[in-house]
Amino acid sequence: MRRTLIAGNWKLNGSKDSITKLVSELTTGISAVSNVDVAVCSPYIYVPFTESLLTDSPISLGAQDVSMHASGAYTGEVAAVMLKEFSCKYCLVGHSERRAIHGESDDIVVSKFKALKVEGLVPVLCVGESLEDRDQGITMSVVEKQVMAVINECGIDAIDGSVIAYEPVWAIGTGRTASPEQAQEVHAGIRALLERFNKDIAVKTQILYGGSMNPANASALLAMQDIDGGLIGGASLKADDFLAICQAA
Ligand code: 13P
Repeated sequence: MRRTLIAGNWKLNGSKDSITKLVSELTTGISAVSNVDVAVCSPYIYVPFTESLLTDSPISLGAQDVSMHASGAYTGEVAAVMLKEFSCKYCLVGHSERRAIHGESDDIVVSKFKALKVEGLVPVLCVGESLEDRDQGITMSVVEKQVMAVINECGIDAIDGSVIAYEPVWAIGTGRTASPEQAQEVHAGIRALLERFNKDIAVKTQILYGGSMNPANASALLAMQDIDGGLIGGASLKADDFLAICQAA
C-alpha cells in the first residue's frame, strides 16, 4: 500500500548540457516503469531549467536544501515558496553532507522541515549514523534523536505526507552499502518509533534507503518490508543506472 519512491540526489553535479541529456534519457526510459514514483533533486540554479525539461514528464522535481526563512535579509538563501513556484514537490532536509559540512543542527533541520510544510512541499528528512556511532552500537538512538527532533517540535501529524530517508553516513559515496538486513533493522526501528505516536502515519510513511544504492544491490534492498524506495546519489547521474534501480523497485 506504500508506493515506492526512487529519488535522485544530483548533489553538486550537472550542467545545462548534461541535465538536458539525462532528463531526456530518463523521460524516455521511465515510461516502462509505472508502479513507482520517481523524482530528481536538482541543484538550486538548475531547478527552473529542470522544471522546463520535466514538463509532461511523470518525474517529479525536488530541491536539495531550503532556507528556514520565508523571506528577508538572508543573502544566498532560497525559500520554500520560491521552490514551490518552480514546481518542486520534494525537498531534502538534514542531508548528512549539510549536517557535517555546513554544521546543520537538528534545530536548523527542524526549522527547514517546518518551512517546507508551511508551503505544502514534501520534506525528505534525511537521518543516519556515522561509522563511529555504528561501531559504538548507538545507531538506533542516533537515528531516533534525529526523527524525534521533528516530532517534538512539529508533532507527529507533520510526519504525515513527509518522507524519511535513512542514509548511514558510512555508506554515502563510499561504495559500501548497508546490507538489506542492516537497513531493514533501522527502517523497522523508525517505523516502530512512529507507531508509538500514530499507527496510521507509521504505516503510511515512505522510508527510503540511501547510501551507495546501485543497479546491483537495489532489488535486494527494495525487497525488504520496510524499505519503500531509494535516495540515490552517484547512480542517479547515469540514466541507465537510475532507470535500472527504478525497474528493480
Ligand atoms: P550515493 O548514492 O552516492 O552513496 O549517495 C547517497 C546520498 O547521499 C543520497 O542523498
